[in-house]
Amino acid sequence: MIIVLKPGTSEEERERIVGTIEDAGLSPHVLIGKERTVIAVIGDERKLQQQTLSAIPGVEKALPILSPYKLVSREFKKEDTIIDVDGVKIGGGQIVMMAGPCSVETQDLLSGIASEVKAAGASILRGGAFKPRTSPYSFQGLGEEGLEFLAAAKKQTGLPVITEIMDPRDMPMIIKHADIIQIGARNMQNFRLLSEAGKQNKPVMLKRGLSATIKEFLLSAEYILSEGNDQVMLCERGIRTFETATRNTLDLSAIPVLKKLTHLPIIVDPSHAVGKTSLIPAMAKAAVAAGADGLMIEVHSNPMEAFCDGDQAMLPHDFKSLVVDLKRVAAAVDRSI
Ligand code: PEP
Ligand code: MN
Repeated sequence: MIIVLKPGTSEEERERIVGTIEDAGLSPHVLIGKERTVIAVIGDERKLQQQTLSAIPGVEKALPILSPYKLVSREFKKEDTIIDVDGVKIGGGQIVMMAGPCSVETQDLLSGIASEVKAAGASILRGGAFKPRTSPYSFQGLGEEGLEFLAAAKKQTGLPVITEIMDPRDMPMIIKHADIIQIGARNMQNFRLLSEAGKQNKPVMLKRGLSATIKEFLLSAEYILSEGNDQVMLCERGIRTFETATRNTLDLSAIPVLKKLTHLPIIVDPSHAVGKTSLIPAMAKAAVAAGADGLMIEVHSNPMEAFCDGDQAMLPHDFKSLVVDLKRVAAAVDRSI
């Protein structure tokens, strides 16, 4: 349920309400808004008597949250969440470009790509050090060395970095180097990993599972928020359908659907959605037109030799011209890049 506090409720009164919720064995999540303060109550609400609540000074009303997900819902928080990553605002008016190779390969290659995507307009560098590969015989990523290469590329270019975590045991190593923790499609329902990410004070980007419904996607995000971390962005990266012409099917309608249901920023990854370089620009433009808050695009200076996902890697200069086109699409929908 959501407890709406009366305007002007004192901090002391608020703390008393929080205490009552905790005493009932429930977990309160306080959201101090510009006009109103609300408290989401998570847990078995039967333990909290409705009458007890309305008798507490400061409580205006208690409303049920009808959706199965609570903290991620628009019912709980009306305003869009804006995540600040080293000064880059994700979820505000500006569309954020995240770009870089699928996997970190060498320092020189990564640093070169990082400078090129920065010059082209990217504000976040992507690169995987731990790669979730279908085959155990494929390149699995450089591990910690890859994280160190990312940190060096960040130092050189000033770009914050996003990188994937696959195992909760790697969390200390990942948070040391990453500015955004990426949870990949294959781990969207790895609940232990989600809870661990929820305990960190670091933004998280959660990618939609290969066959996950929007409800499942939002419930996975709820795992992270319920542990206390509300710096979460969602990423639509294509879902499995019967169609084989593309690697996955980009669910563009997920963007307006999610915007309606949640206050969290929405990123779109057209690269993994289509799996072919030539199809990325059209889907990137469509995602911006549909209201995405950011794009994640794979860029490699030598796609033919890439260790991973070369078929969907854009060349830096093609990425640069895509950003020029995207600025025009963004302007048409009253946004900017
Ligand atoms: C990635 O972004 O590197 C990745 C593996 O993507 P996904 O989890 O969407 O397949
Ligand atoms: Mn990839």
